[in-house]
Amino acid sequence: MKLIVPNYYENFKCIADRCRHNCCIGWEIDIDKETLDFYRQVGGKLGKRLKEHISPENTPHFILNEQERCPFLNSRNLCDIITQLGEGGLCQICDDHPRFRNYYSDRIEMGIGLCCEAAGQLILSQQEKVTFSPIRSKDPFFRIRKQVFTALQDRSKTVEQRLKKMLVLCGSDLDPNLQDWAMFYKNLERLDPAWDQKLEQIQESSPLPMEWDIPFEQLSVYFAFRHLQPEQLAKRAAFVALSVKLIAAIFSAEEKTFDGLVELARLYSSEIEYSDENIERILDRIT
Ligand code: SF4
Repeated sequence: MKLIVPNYYENFKCIADRCRHNCCIGWEIDIDKETLDFYRQVGGKLGKRLKEHISPENTPHFILNEQERCPFLNSRNLCDIITQLGEGGLCQICDDHPRFRNYYSDRIEMGIGLCCEAAGQLILSQQEKVTFSPIRSKDPFFRIRKQVFTALQDRSKTVEQRLKKMLVLCGSDLDPNLQDWAMFYKNLERLDPAWDQKLEQIQESSPLPMEWDIPFEQLSVYFAFRHLQPEQLAKRAAFVALSVKLIAAIFSAEEKTFDGLVELARLYSSEIEYSDENIERILDRIT
């Protein structure tokens, strides 16, 4: 099976103890069966800790402490499992994060998710047009998606014009009232109350200054690569455009810095992209 990744993929590196929003804090981490069997064989102090800090209930998982930290994330924000067993000691989820996969009949596509600040820095700082490993396909979906990437990377147009072209290519449309959308987003499942404050800043869609076109192009291509699917193509295209426009509207209301954009994208990704329930509810609202 062919593996397709964006050209920046291999440059991703976790920044570990320098990460401000460590993925080992605040998320329940499930442990796959193979790794659980392996952990049961580990002896010594680490083996004892593993036995004490894994819950076998429902899907086996690490028991987070009172600060919602993984019990193996030490005070220097380094993982005790890695330091003692090496990266090979990680469970599937920890080993994978922040990578995502989409499965198709002729390929697997992989990328890195914006909920990780190191991934956000890498994706949004790309200056050249992002490319993907070439693969010929007669599948109409991949043909349309190729046209979508070309449209989103057409630097003779504004990002707004490029998103409109994507909607046309996918036979889609989007309710343009971003304040209504912001109200709707406020009723979705919530992780961080800071997200509510961001949504409250949305007044209307205002044009982005040209100097931000390239990071917003990378954001658009990222969302299109990750979320466009043959099923519900029109709705998903609207979701891609909506995601970019909401982030742009919040960004426009703030002091515009690159780090601010990475943080905004991280927040959006954690609140929306990593909640299947939230994505379902948004797709349901898109007509
Ligand atoms: S969020 Fe990203 S950079 Fe931070 S600890 Fe997790 S993988 Fe590493």
